[in-house]
Amino acid sequence: MSMPEDQNSISGWPSGINPVPYLDRLTIDFFERNQLESMFFLLNAVTDGILCIDREGRIVYSNPAARNLLGYSQFELRSASVAELLGDANAWALLLQQVMSGEIVATDRHQMTHKNGIPIHIVITAVPVKHNQETENALIVFRDTMPGVLASLSLTEREKLLQGIFELLPSGVILLNHQGRVLRLNGTARKILQLDHQDIRGHALEADRWKAQRVDGSSVALEESPFLLSLHDNQIHKEMLYLESVQRYMLVNAQPLQIRSAGRTSQLVIATFTDINEQYRGHQRMQGAIELNNEINRLLTDLLTERGAKETIQTALSGVSELTDADFATIGTFDMDTNTVLFDNFFSTEDPAMQPESFRVPLEDLPCSPDPDKAGMLQPGSYDHEDGPWMPEFMRTGLRTFLCAPIYSEDALLGVVYLFRRVPAPFTQEDIANMHNLTPVLSAAISKSGYEKKLNELATTDPLTGLANRRTFFTELEAEMERSRRYATPISLLMLDLDHFKLINDRFGHLAGDEVLCEVARIMRERTRKTDVVARTGGEEFMILLPESRLAGAIRTAQKLRQSIEELIVQYYDQSVQVTVSIGAAELGATETLHEFYARLDGLLYRSKNSGRNQISHEE
Ligand code: GH3
Ligand code: MG
Ligand code: MG
Repeated sequence: MSMPEDQNSISGWPSGINPVPYLDRLTIDFFERNQLESMFFLLNAVTDGILCIDREGRIVYSNPAARNLLGYSQFELRSASVAELLGDANAWALLLQQVMSGEIVATDRHQMTHKNGIPIHIVITAVPVKHNQETENALIVFRDTMPGVLASLSLTEREKLLQGIFELLPSGVILLNHQGRVLRLNGTARKILQLDHQDIRGHALEADRWKAQRVDGSSVALEESPFLLSLHDNQIHKEMLYLESVQRYMLVNAQPLQIRSAGRTSQLVIATFTDINEQYRGHQRMQGAIELNNEINRLLTDLLTERGAKETIQTALSGVSELTDADFATIGTFDMDTNTVLFDNFFSTEDPAMQPESFRVPLEDLPCSPDPDKAGMLQPGSYDHEDGPWMPEFMRTGLRTFLCAPIYSEDALLGVVYLFRRVPAPFTQEDIANMHNLTPVLSAAISKSGYEKKLNELATTDPLTGLANRRTFFTELEAEMERSRRYATPISLLMLDLDHFKLINDRFGHLAGDEVLCEVARIMRERTRKTDVVARTGGEEFMILLPESRLAGAIRTAQKLRQSIEELIVQYYDQSVQVTVSIGAAELGATETLHEFYARLDGLLYRSKNSGRNQISHEE
């Protein structure tokens, strides 16, 4: 994306500093333009914590990753001072002064304190945000220095996904900001607007590439196009126009879209171009086309703003049900590994709150079973009780006719949608045509939802070992401590650190070290209960939360683990690698805070290390 002159204030990065890769885009876009994209970057994608601060260092905005890292809510963070979160007030004062004078500052070793009192080691990049050459805000971007935070990877994935949603849509789609600059568009829209080979993002549309006529033959200047009209008056505008670029009539539907971010509301316009000729030739079909087009717009809007895996699919499902007059609808997601379809999203028009139990069905047992290898046709059908043994009872009673549509992304089967009607009115060809236009939206919803699950997984687990990460561990620990207080049940904790791990890396190499970490993690998982929380809280440091366990039980678990790890032989090519572990074990005291508990364990682990390693320390 190219940058306008006046905002090109963030030029070269100071040498020797490895900038956070998305920052240059983020700050340029942050307040001034591109609100929607900024929001995606800020709210959803970035696994780095981001705090936007004012000149005094007070927080005006925090992204979810920041809240997650620090354990505070948005509300708690708002107008708190960063000085309170950072350990070192002097270092902070200096940093604030530097960034507010317009410098980009990157610092190496800082410490913030989680709400629970546990320190987090972070690196900070502070970037000034300029309004008309004045620095009024700054972004404090910080990152847990714990390994495995795949910030840039998930950002790229996120970006790909959003573009994917756009590309999947059958219509041309374009998103403009309040200045009429293009934020995003898909391939179809590129063709329609004759922008095939141009990098248009960040630029306004050019009047001479827009050639359109009304049905009566009069021409429509770019200024009079539905999207620019919407931009100016915040109303929905739609018009059927003959577009010379593609030589056909298209329904152009523009709709204002408000996005709230960082306490400000920004106005965007989303416009869709739907080919009238292809699917809705006859005049009677026009109304249907308009409705469908509206609906796609609305769904898209919802999808772009809705967050959470479940909500995304639910939104899509209810939209599709409304549009097709279905009484009940369900989406199943296809699992390639087991060749089954998991139905866990339902929508009932009669009772939108209804959420039945999910169920799983082998793909080939579905009526109108779609072929996973090739994009199949939509299949209307009806059934009586005999046909639907795979369906739970609640779906069989009274639902008489259904429409089944496989949902593909590119050529891979993502899932299946079933729409049901209670009345014995079969779905028509028109419904099928509608469905044809809607399945890409569902496909986008499923991909987005799957992606969100993955993001969530990335945020909660350690990618090397698959164990819970530090963040998850402390969240769980806090919850368990609260439960323990309320119900007076015991909890114990083990803190484990592998012995002389540096030597293992030195002797056998880092990859061998990683292999050992995975094997040790496997032992920890296998030799603990399902309800225990096993986490990798640092490089070769682990913690295990044992709910409902007294000290004696915790010691027994620790002994098992110590012995199993000592006996473990990890084969790395022709080398046999062995390792031992030092452990601290403690039971939570009646009035002990998290911080005290943690410090006590730390002391016990230290005692094990100091008295020769490969042993367990605990109090009597
Ligand atoms: P001890 O704890 O017994 O005092 O000695 P140590 O050698 O384990 O000491 P220390 O905790 O200082 O060092 C931990 C080492 O673990 C340093 C680092 O190279 C290594 N390490 C941390 N994370 C990883 C990782 O993800 N993979 C590998 N292979 N090594 C790691
Ligand atoms: Mg260590
Ligand atoms: Mg160690």
